[in-house]
Amino acid sequence: MPPIAILFMFLLPTLHNPACSAARSTISAGEVLTGAGKLVSHNGKFALGFYQPGSEYSSQQTPRHWYLGIWFDKIPKLTPIWVGNRENPIIDLDNSELKISDDGNLVILNRATKSTICYDPGQENLIIQDASNSSKIIWQSFDYLTDGTPPGAKQGLDKVTGLNSKIVSKKNLIDPAPGRYCMELDTTGPGQFLYKLCNSSIVYWSTGEWNGQYFNSMPEMSRHKLFSFEFVNNDKEEYFIRHLLDDKIIAVSLLDISGQGKQLIWYESSQDWLTVFTQPKDQCDVYATCGPFTICNSNKSPVCDCMKGFSIRSPKDWVLEDRSGGCTRNMPLDCGSRNQSRNATTDVFYSMTGITLPTMARVIEAVGSTDHCAQACLDYCSCIAYSYGTRCSLWYDDLLNVKHDYTRTTSDGEVLYLRISAKDAASSRNKKRGKKGVIGAITAAGVVALGLLTAFMMWFLRIWRSNRKLATAVHNNDKGGHGIVVFQYVHLQQATKNFSDKLGAGSFGSVFRGLLTDMTAIAVKRLDGVRQGEKQFRAEVSSIGIIQHVDLVKLLGFCCEGKSRMLVYEYMPNLSLDAHLFHSNRTVLNWSVRYQISLEIARGLAYLHESCRDCIIHCDIKPQNILLDTSFVPKVADFGMAKFLGRDFSRVLTTFRGTIGYLAPEWISGVAITPKVDVYSYGMMLLEIVSGQSNTCKGNTTNGDHSAYFPVQVARKLLDRDVASLLDIKLLDVNLDEAERVCKVACWCIQDSETNRPTMGEVVQILEGLLELEVPPLPRQLQAIAGNSP
Ligand code: ADP
Ligand code: MG
Repeated sequence: MPPIAILFMFLLPTLHNPACSAARSTISAGEVLTGAGKLVSHNGKFALGFYQPGSEYSSQQTPRHWYLGIWFDKIPKLTPIWVGNRENPIIDLDNSELKISDDGNLVILNRATKSTICYDPGQENLIIQDASNSSKIIWQSFDYLTDGTPPGAKQGLDKVTGLNSKIVSKKNLIDPAPGRYCMELDTTGPGQFLYKLCNSSIVYWSTGEWNGQYFNSMPEMSRHKLFSFEFVNNDKEEYFIRHLLDDKIIAVSLLDISGQGKQLIWYESSQDWLTVFTQPKDQCDVYATCGPFTICNSNKSPVCDCMKGFSIRSPKDWVLEDRSGGCTRNMPLDCGSRNQSRNATTDVFYSMTGITLPTMARVIEAVGSTDHCAQACLDYCSCIAYSYGTRCSLWYDDLLNVKHDYTRTTSDGEVLYLRISAKDAASSRNKKRGKKGVIGAITAAGVVALGLLTAFMMWFLRIWRSNRKLATAVHNNDKGGHGIVVFQYVHLQQATKNFSDKLGAGSFGSVFRGLLTDMTAIAVKRLDGVRQGEKQFRAEVSSIGIIQHVDLVKLLGFCCEGKSRMLVYEYMPNLSLDAHLFHSNRTVLNWSVRYQISLEIARGLAYLHESCRDCIIHCDIKPQNILLDTSFVPKVADFGMAKFLGRDFSRVLTTFRGTIGYLAPEWISGVAITPKVDVYSYGMMLLEIVSGQSNTCKGNTTNGDHSAYFPVQVARKLLDRDVASLLDIKLLDVNLDEAERVCKVACWCIQDSETNRPTMGEVVQILEGLLELEVPPLPRQLQAIAGNSP
């Protein structure tokens, strides 16, 4: 190895030249820092030294590798933001030392290999150079920002030198060597950054153009109050930089091993990083994130799974989050001997639905049917899959970028026929092995069709039976029976006078008032949009359709005919809670009613979370989804986003759902959720019940002054024991003890860390006066949003 030297300059302008002061304060000429030592920047935020990544995987690497890196010194989770020797790990740490050389440079000297690493305060860049020929630059940090940038670091193009700095993902959890994905400024067009495969021109995501405030594909940037962003384009350079508005916050943006860009904020209460945005949002949109022959499903954990007949190629790498190898065939394909006729193969096709088709298909124009397409595939030993939509597509190489897609059902989505060995197919319960490939394909399709037919018959039978019971079932329902009725479209059309009396509308449909022949008042929710409507419909029927509680709206039945999807509820004459809280022309709810409403909603949610067979997370608690009956008893409604959490699980991974203003921080981080997301939303709603002001309303922040943000005010006033000033001015007679209790509960519910939030069962006990509460701390994230102004 040639002797090398690294000239080192911190890239962090926010630190007021920290390295200099760190160098001055911690090491001086002639002093030596051993391999185990470190330099700490003067504000204590960063450290420079040697580290070993992924200590929890230490058994996977012998001898262990050491890297020179800069990391956040104040947090317990080692997160290097820059690595000096990504590709040249140091194995022999005992022989390494850090010192100031005679010419004033900071030098890390490896006595065994004769390599040196120097820090030159005069340089604006970190450079590795050949020690014997200082003009020969081996590596420099502007080319490779490593896999992340701290706030204050520039990323972009130096027009003078032509250098376009690049962020390159790590190889895996223990090896910071350059991995598969790169992020860099698009130098060919307008100001935007491209996410691409490093070793090819494939771009899988772009930030969109800079519009002066944010990149067009990242409107979420404008909503974030923690950073200010700048995009500079002048004669000398073109770069993007993000500044942290509060220096106390620890943040970093990095390109994950999976290829997803992530903006992370250190979350003190959970002692972990919180992901604030990801680019692209869905990990499955990253090119080949799971590798070949996998199905990517971002709703599941783990996200990557092998296709039928395949197994993980390298489980060891997989554990280290390097999935580039993807999955490999369990049994080799039987191509049929060259001398035999082409149909001699025993391979079969396995049909895959509910997915997006892999990329890189070859379209065969002349083929006019599925059978011929299958045959065309069998004609080539190297053909591994086909699909026939309007044209015949064949795949020859690795199958990449297959994503699970709930919106594609068997009827409207494309089917991918994957060629697998007959032995692999035999291990599947549903598939029968055909003697010939084509027969295999047809058999597989037949099985699917038969399954569908059976399901349809059962569904039809249920509808028929239920219709017969229609007259009596509604009656039973009134008496508290659990039957749920299947309504015919025409009946609902009659009952709602052809959907003429609209009660409200949400994101996926409209709600109409109606009257059944037995004079039961109903509300009919008609879902629009075939795919989304279907999802909502199923979520509601399978959640609120099977449980009953006085504080939950009652689902009387549904209608599912052709494309129509309708849900029939008992009618709630007193509208939804938001109408009374935020609209001045409605009845003002007095304090005791508000207190009772808060308690009842808590009871309803506690039932959902704790008493049902499977825990149900509502996922969209807000005043618009709380309905009021004749006596203003609240009913939790709108289960269109509800999620089941099996009895044996504490968390569930799901797509982002809910409403801005009520979203717990963990939604934004994309981690699996718990019922505590409802607790958070409930807390936000309690604050609205107390104040009569909408948290999301613009008037809440005057002239961009976020200190007026109500949830933050509550937290502060609680500390000052000044609850009275928080109350809705429309309230006349308030029990201040109760008001303080509600504010305290609310503030505990909106704590950043799930573990600090109470359960809904505890909330019930607190509001019933059975449990006492301490004064809650300020929720840090809200505080961060609001700034530190008093
Ligand atoms: P979405 O999923 O579209 O938000 P919701 O179930 O929340 O649908 O209903 C939308 C609106 O329709 C509610 O905010 C409410 O105003 C009205 N609504 C819904 N259900 C009823 C009901 N059972 N009785 C009276 N009004 C209702
Ligand atoms: Mg709603």
